[in-house]
Amino acid sequence: MKLKVIIMRKRLAAGNWKMNMTPSQAKSFISEIKPLLADADSEVLFFVPAIDIQAALAAAEGSNIQIGAENFFYEDKGAYTGEISLDMIRDTGAEYVLMGHSERRTIFGESDEWINKKLLKAIEYGMKPMVCCGESLEIREAGNTLGWIEAQIRSAFTGVSAADAANVVIAYEPIWAIGTGKVATTDQAQEVCGMIRKLIADIYDADTAEKIRILYGGSVSPENAAELFAQPDIDGGLVGGASLKTSFEKIAKA
Ligand code: PEP
Repeated sequence: MKLKVIIMRKRLAAGNWKMNMTPSQAKSFISEIKPLLADADSEVLFFVPAIDIQAALAAAEGSNIQIGAENFFYEDKGAYTGEISLDMIRDTGAEYVLMGHSERRTIFGESDEWINKKLLKAIEYGMKPMVCCGESLEIREAGNTLGWIEAQIRSAFTGVSAADAANVVIAYEPIWAIGTGKVATTDQAQEVCGMIRKLIADIYDADTAEKIRILYGGSVSPENAAELFAQPDIDGGLVGGASLKTSFEKIAKA
C-alpha cells in the first residue's frame, strides 16, 4: 500500500505597504505591532519601500516579523539611475522580495519577461521570492481568467527548477479587488489558487505543487481573512491597505 505524505505548508501573512510610511513611521509602526504579532502561528512579513528596510529591520529585531523589499531591478549593478539591486537589498538582511505586482505591471510597464528575469535573479541571490499574478475585470468578464493566470505563471517560472520553484510564494491578486474594497468570493479565490497548484503540478510535479505556498490578495481585511484562508489552496494573504494598521494582527492570526 502506498502512503501519501501530507506536507503542511506554513501559513504566511504578508503586508505590502506600497508607497506609504517614512522610515520613522516604519520604525514606530513595527515597534507597535511587534508585541501583538508575537504569538502568531503564521509567518509574518511586511514588504516595505527600500528606504524603510533598515529602519523596519532594526525595529523588528528579535521578533518573528520579517521584512522584504517591494521592488528591485534584475541587473546586478551599473548605470540604472534610481534602481535598487538585490545585492543592496540582501546586504541589509532583508530576505523576501516581491515581483509581478499589478501596480508595477500596469503603472511601470513591467512585462512578463521582466518578472521572469527578476525571479531568476532573486533565486540566484538566494532570496525568498514572491510572485504576483492576477487578471483585470475585463479578462474575468470575458471568461479568460484561468488562461491569463496560466500564461503569467508559465512565463514567470521559465527556467526555474522544481527545487527552486517549491520555495517561491505565489500571490494571486485579481486586479479588480486590489484597493477597491471588492474582495473576490472565497469560491473565486479558491478556484484560481487551486488551478495554480494544479498548474505547478503540471509544470513540475505533485510534490512541488504540495510544497509551494499560494496566497490570495485583494481587499483582505480582518473581517474576511479567516474565510479566505480556510480554503484548501489558500495559504495566507498578501495585504495592502490593511497592513498599515495594527489590526493586521487579526489577519495574521486568522
Ligand atoms: C496589494 O497591494 O497587494 C493588495 C492586495 O492591496 P489591498 O489589500 O489594499 O487590496
